[in-house]
Amino acid sequence: MNREEAILREFNLYPLWQRREQAQSVREQVTAAVQPITEQIVSKSVVEKADMQNPGDSSWPELQALVKNCTACKLRVSCTQTVFGMGDVRADWLFVGAWPGVDEDAQGEPFAGQPGKLLDNMLAAIKLKRGRNVYITNIVKCYPPGNRTPEADEIAQCVPYLERQIQLIQPKLIVALGETAALLLGHGATLSGVRGKLHDYRGSSAHALVTGIPLIFTYDPIYLMQTPLKKAEAWDDLCLAIATMQALV
Ligand code: SF4
Repeated sequence: MNREEAILREFNLYPLWQRREQAQSVREQVTAAVQPITEQIVSKSVVEKADMQNPGDSSWPELQALVKNCTACKLRVSCTQTVFGMGDVRADWLFVGAWPGVDEDAQGEPFAGQPGKLLDNMLAAIKLKRGRNVYITNIVKCYPPGNRTPEADEIAQCVPYLERQIQLIQPKLIVALGETAALLLGHGATLSGVRGKLHDYRGSSAHALVTGIPLIFTYDPIYLMQTPLKKAEAWDDLCLAIATMQALV
């Protein structure tokens, strides 16, 4: 068994095949969709707008209620429910995706359906389990209609909730999943520019409540399902995450 096959089996998704040119097309589409938004979100005008939605000193239950009742942007009009996050609120590991998909919108939990199963397999591959020393959430808490990419003002409105979650959980390590998470948490860098290296979390806006947490970027499970050839790189990222955590504890 070669290394690629071993990794695919570790993720419980072997065999999966995809034409190389198709995989490239998916990646290009994701990057094209989120790049303009990142350029806006880091602009001064958009970041200042995030002040309007500052969750301040809220406790965890208060923050949950704030998100549950939030109508700060138009995404709440069309989604079924807000998706706050799930897991151990004292977790060492925090996994952050981009926004809820249609399954998450229906279930009220992040990373449901097939992408959720792959994430669970990724966690299991590094001896972790959803909800046990692991917290999972998204940058944006509401499902965008048609799974469109959230607009810059919608992201800016929602980011303070994530920042308060990070402040309250105080994870030892953050693993950001996907191109959008890389563009936002990596301050405009593409995933290819930030993955494979250890970073310090510097917040998503100019008003980040906590900084300096080790941060690693890897692929979103949805992208990995579409692009199985990238699973070897995802495995390398998880190995970096394990090594980083072992150095911290
Ligand atoms: S996406 Fe975020 S800011 Fe917009 S309504 Fe939902 S919780 Fe509120």
